[in-house]
Amino acid sequence: MASSEFGRAVALVRDARRIVALTGAGISTESGIPDFRGPGGSWTKYDPAVFAYPQFVGDPESRKAYWRWSVEFWPQVAAAKPNDAHLALVALERAERLRCVVTQNVDGLHGLAGSRDVIEIHGNGTRTVCLSCRTSYDRNRIQERLLGGDTDPRCEACGGVLKPDVVLFGERMPQGPTERAFDEAESCDLLIVVGSSLVVNPAARLVPQAKQNGAKVVIVNLDRTLYDGIADVVLRGRAAETMGSLVGEALST
Ligand SMILES: [Zn+2]
Repeated sequence: MASSEFGRAVALVRDARRIVALTGAGISTESGIPDFRGPGGSWTKYDPAVFAYPQFVGDPESRKAYWRWSVEFWPQVAAAKPNDAHLALVALERAERLRCVVTQNVDGLHGLAGSRDVIEIHGNGTRTVCLSCRTSYDRNRIQERLLGGDTDPRCEACGGVLKPDVVLFGERMPQGPTERAFDEAESCDLLIVVGSSLVVNPAARLVPQAKQNGAKVVIVNLDRTLYDGIADVVLRGRAAETMGSLVGEALST
């Protein structure tokens, strides 16, 4: 990365007081969680339509297909640890520079890292929830049942259908978190995008939302993103390394 670009990003972080971070799959891949949409990702091997919300709710075969996939995928999520990019955002929050993290990820790594205010707009897959009585179960507990041969786990309290607490294809986004994410983007003075190529809406639209309301925008991503053109600084690099240096530098000067 060009050092002058890095220096400009450091200055923007140093001067900002109401930072919002938007994070995507790229921050989690560096913790060992494969990107669904990336090369070799799950969606290239499985047909996501099978797991779409209406099918999941209405068809036991769809749920069984989901859990067959999930039982294989879950150990990678359960074993993942936050990396330097997650920790950099914790440091910014503790320094009272960062208001909140908005994340498209469902792995719970920001919370595990120690971030207090995390808006999980696609939900959190470390939880499994009953669609009838809303009882929530730790996903690790469901894993034991799946490994024990339960192919379509049901709620222990009421027998209802259990669903991962994430937004499935064809499912409405939870309105509260999405609205709050847009409010925060509107009132922040700096939006830092980490590890998202900004192709999935509505999350991607937080970038023009922030920009139109006067915020600066810094994008940290390995690949080109849809909104590089309106960003103030684009840092092309790995999330952990780039965020670690950027925040370390900004907080020490
Ligand atoms: Zn229930």
